[in-house]
Amino acid sequence: MIRPIAALALVLLLGSCGGGGGAPAAAPRAADARESPDQVLARLSAQNAGDTRVARNLFGAVPGPSAQESRAIGFYSRGCLAGAVEMPETGATWQAMRLSRNRNWGTPELIGFLQDLSRFAATQPGWQGLYIGDLGQPRGGPALTGHASHQVGLDADIWMLPPARLNLSRDERESISSIAMDRQGGAFTNANWTPQHEAILRQAAMDPRVERIFVFAGAKVAMCANATGDRSWLSKIRPLSGHNTHFHVRLACPAGDPTCVAQDPVPAGDGCAEAQEWVNNILNPPPPDPDAPPPPPPRAPLTMGELPAQCRAVLDSN
Ligand SMILES: [Zn+2]
Repeated sequence: MIRPIAALALVLLLGSCGGGGGAPAAAPRAADARESPDQVLARLSAQNAGDTRVARNLFGAVPGPSAQESRAIGFYSRGCLAGAVEMPETGATWQAMRLSRNRNWGTPELIGFLQDLSRFAATQPGWQGLYIGDLGQPRGGPALTGHASHQVGLDADIWMLPPARLNLSRDERESISSIAMDRQGGAFTNANWTPQHEAILRQAAMDPRVERIFVFAGAKVAMCANATGDRSWLSKIRPLSGHNTHFHVRLACPAGDPTCVAQDPVPAGDGCAEAQEWVNNILNPPPPDPDAPPPPPPRAPLTMGELPAQCRAVLDSN
């Protein structure tokens, strides 16, 4: 019988032999292995199985990044981040908001993407650039408040409030809030929504680094109605409740990162019919299904044993 640790070692060994030519180890990706992200994570986590410490208490308390090579480790909602890079608090075309949260950390890919997108945003009438909300913690991982994801340095929240100026003080970045873009519970956009919002989301969705973008359903329906020419980018725009004052960009696993677990690809097609159905269900909620199983009890917070084994080294690193 192969014990879990032996199985893990075997997988890592096979992975490290797969690339050839000194390339980084082949990724234990869900698609490659024909496993779901959950199955991959169960396998990667086996080594820490006895570690019952609550991960968010540990990752939420570390003030700085690990002195390691940059790696997104695990899955967006079950992982951590080695060698994080800080999004500078202010740049020519952006400001990071809510600095007290210390969540302006990500992979180099995420920081580069956000700077690029902010430069595009600054070309839009009425936009000086972007106000950047939460990325991840200095070592990623689960947070004490908010966010199921944002754990591996590949997720970022971007405010929908067009920046009128980029010289906000630290205090202003705590007190100013974004504004809502929706009405009727996310079914429709409101008067704050502009063609510039659509241009910025389209630019983000067309970026090959981007895997998905989450935004309220009414915004997607609006973009479906207004899109001209190539519509392929619309598939990356995913309706999600909330996300009416910010949109959430999720990057794909960086090329060659052997520890990043990919999400299942977005379904084929532009997803516009599904977004319309989502809106219809907001406006006319279907009656509750009497045969539906009861909702599952709230999930206990993730333990260190449920995160990939490498997350312990991230926590313990200098
Ligand atoms: Zn988010």
